[in-house]
Amino acid sequence: MKYYSTKKTVPEVDLKTAVTQGLADDNGLFMPKHIEKFEPEFFDNIQNLSFQEISFEVAKKFFGEDIENETLKTIVYDTLNFDCPVVSVKDNIYSLELFHGPTLAFKDVGGRFMARMLGHFLKGSDQLVNVLVATSGDTGSAVANGFLGVPGIHVYVLYPKGKVSPIQECQFTTLGQNITALEIDGVFDDCQRLVKSAFLDAELNQKMTLTSANSINVARFLPQAFYYFNAFARNPQKDKKLVISVPSGNFGNLTAGLFAKRMGLPVERFIAANNSNDIVFNYLKTGQYNPKASVQTIANAMDVGDPSNFVRILDLYNNSHEAISTDIKGYTYSDDQIRETLKRVYNETGYLLDPHGACGYRSLEEYLSDDEVGIFLETAHPAKFTETVEEIVGKGNVPLPEKLAAFMKGKKQSINLDKDFEYFKAFLLNE
Ligand SMILES: *Cc1c(COP(=O)(O)O)cnc(C)c1O
Repeated sequence: MKYYSTKKTVPEVDLKTAVTQGLADDNGLFMPKHIEKFEPEFFDNIQNLSFQEISFEVAKKFFGEDIENETLKTIVYDTLNFDCPVVSVKDNIYSLELFHGPTLAFKDVGGRFMARMLGHFLKGSDQLVNVLVATSGDTGSAVANGFLGVPGIHVYVLYPKGKVSPIQECQFTTLGQNITALEIDGVFDDCQRLVKSAFLDAELNQKMTLTSANSINVARFLPQAFYYFNAFARNPQKDKKLVISVPSGNFGNLTAGLFAKRMGLPVERFIAANNSNDIVFNYLKTGQYNPKASVQTIANAMDVGDPSNFVRILDLYNNSHEAISTDIKGYTYSDDQIRETLKRVYNETGYLLDPHGACGYRSLEEYLSDDEVGIFLETAHPAKFTETVEEIVGKGNVPLPEKLAAFMKGKKQSINLDKDFEYFKAFLLNE
């Protein structure tokens, strides 16, 4: 499969180049040249397949031309050594729980897949690849844990000082080995800008091989399509039209869902559930895309002011605002609305949402009609945001999973850096 840049000013590349390079030379994002469709019959039998089996079928559509089946199967099965179940919350609303992986957030799927795919491409070479990843919380932990100990790869995690939860922080600052945590004096958008600037810097790229493990990397965002197919397969109310709500920040997750729909997955529409960072919400309403500085919310993994995958959505729909706003409806929720939802759902049903999933749940509760069934992506375990969630539902009501407790025992190691690019560049060159 060839991959083209959304800016279309550079030649197409192969999968290995797209993955090792992350971003295209013209600063565009890579898109697969073709999107292969499933036959409609595939969906008649999909409920008989396991999550791993479904994912392997999807992976073959994306990567089957480039990676031999047995290897691809191993990558998929190793990545998905945990389930993404559909759990009933209330009436026709279900949670697709994406938090059963090692760092308890959906990013484990893409992070683990990308680490294995890059490892496969680097096998037998003496190339050292430096993975740069900007995180507002969950990406850093998923990528760092996915890549931990993979030979030939060094990971730099850039995160905004004081703006990620203590549990999130210890998931990528305590690992050591080939993982370096960089604490940036700034906000998430500064971290993202530093990473993007590094990819564009001629001197840096001449001296070291850099790649991105943010959702701009095709090996990270495409595998996220796997669980949309699983959501369809496990949906208990198949007689109704399926609506999927995606708590969104950088829009990698939602874009993967749009790919799944293009591949034939019967989804009536998607919902982009936002916190008060409402850039895409405004675009859907007005057709105007006006990026702005992100604002801090209690759903901090969605505090993004200029979603990097938005250009992929524009590309996928040939810039048609009409087509985009037909397939995607946008909703935006304040911190108070998130708190109210989380508390009420807990009291009424016993289901404990996290602040991100609460946005997804609420959009379904408000906008689902009776002939529809809604599945929201529960993107992280509530215990990743214990302080926030306990303030809402009361102390002692947020069980700490053992996997998280284990991370808390490690010793924090991080390097504090200014948000100015020259400092970051000098740091990398001196490493
Ligand atoms: C990263 C993240 C999101 C946002 O996902 P995007 O793909 O960036 O839109 C939502 N919720 C949680 C918990 C996350 O970690």
